[in-house]
Amino acid sequence: MKNWLESAEAIGGVDELLASVGLGHGRRKTLAGTWKDGERRKREPGEKARGVAARRVVATAASVVRAPGWEKYGWLRHGFSTRFGGVSKIYGEGALNLGWTKEDNVGKVAENRRRFLQLLDTQNLDKLITISQFHSGLVRVIEAEDGAREGRLETANGRAVLRGDGMMTDIPGVMLGVQVADCVPVLVVDVRRRVVAAFHAGWRGTLARIVERGIGRMRLRYGSRPEDLLAVVGPAIGACCYSVGEEVRFEFESQFAYAPELFSEVYDSDPVRNKYPLLFLTARAPGHSNIGPQIHLDLWQANRLQLLDAGLNAKRITVIGECSACTRVDGRLKYFSHRGESGFAGRMMGVVGVTSTE
Ligand SMILES: [Zn+2]
Repeated sequence: MKNWLESAEAIGGVDELLASVGLGHGRRKTLAGTWKDGERRKREPGEKARGVAARRVVATAASVVRAPGWEKYGWLRHGFSTRFGGVSKIYGEGALNLGWTKEDNVGKVAENRRRFLQLLDTQNLDKLITISQFHSGLVRVIEAEDGAREGRLETANGRAVLRGDGMMTDIPGVMLGVQVADCVPVLVVDVRRRVVAAFHAGWRGTLARIVERGIGRMRLRYGSRPEDLLAVVGPAIGACCYSVGEEVRFEFESQFAYAPELFSEVYDSDPVRNKYPLLFLTARAPGHSNIGPQIHLDLWQANRLQLLDAGLNAKRITVIGECSACTRVDGRLKYFSHRGESGFAGRMMGVVGVTSTE
């Protein structure tokens, strides 16, 4: 049911899907007439039934998700996007898709990126830098001679030049952006040396300890001290919605002593399966049943533990704690979710930078 609802969201909303198959949702409606002011009235000749076209989805306002308390650093800009406040249509009207996905229009993505930087209060003076992500542990240091502000880290059509899954810099006016749609965006700031870092941590990046190693790199390159670091673990798929295969647990168990606390076993009760068990009979041998617990992975906690292992004070780590697959605002999904939308999803961004405007 949930996947179905979320796919419906991807094509423009549950109401629209229900309307398209003749089922109203949240509004009484019959073929012969409509309910109005509590009274049923006959449809006038020639009047069309109220359907998809008559009901515009009211776009939910743009917003930025931020770590509480970070606003006291006037030189710092950061935030996580939601799916609201953009101009894309392919992922639902008004979607703020920030990734160059193959389905979306290039001009719309560029406009979405411009809008998001404006929401971050960079007044478009700061340059957004992205990297071509590939679920690795590779972290890039963006130096002045790389020409980030001059546009040398992107192609003519705005694509990233560098490959990697983490970035750090101390250059004012350079905003580091990691793109996600379930994977964990982690932002780290050295408030004393004014250094920022952004990491893209899916399960592979987390397994590769990208955050822990990235902070090691900050210490080497900038002399960052753990006590000067702030970190935020952004909106990403939560343990509630992230079931993984046995092989993922095996990989984590071979890397982390604390692996057991990252996994939970969930015994699903499937109402259809319970009611019609005969439909699900299999000829499997005893002990080889496919009916077992689902294994759920908590990537928020995994990355929080890496931040703690890197020496950060627990009080200076914020976990936003909103699941990208199931968090809703006014009944609408708040984020894009690769898992929740069966791969047809826009991209959000976690951005951090030292602004050039202060
Ligand atoms: Zn969830």
